[in-house]
Amino acid sequence: MKDWKLRERPHGYVVVNGSGAVVSPGFGTRRDALAWCERRAQARPPKRRPCLGCGKAFDSDGAHNRLCPACGTGRVRPSRAVLT
Ligand SMILES: [Zn+2]
Repeated sequence: MKDWKLRERPHGYVVVNGSGAVVSPGFGTRRDALAWCERRAQARPPKRRPCLGCGKAFDSDGAHNRLCPACGTGRVRPSRAVLT
């Protein structure tokens, strides 16, 4: 399940990624949260694709993600970059 972790909340649990950003809805129990992690991991396994820019294989987030991080950031103009 990547670098995800469970984080306890007043009303249950959420899943956060390595940067501490919440990536899941809230869950009432730890077991529900873990089950969600497993489903997500199976639904979207990380896939290595060749970069369309430089040809090097990288871990793609999905079909929309065809440029490696180096080429992706190098080609997006700052005014159009999506900051997440
Ligand atoms: Zn590249």
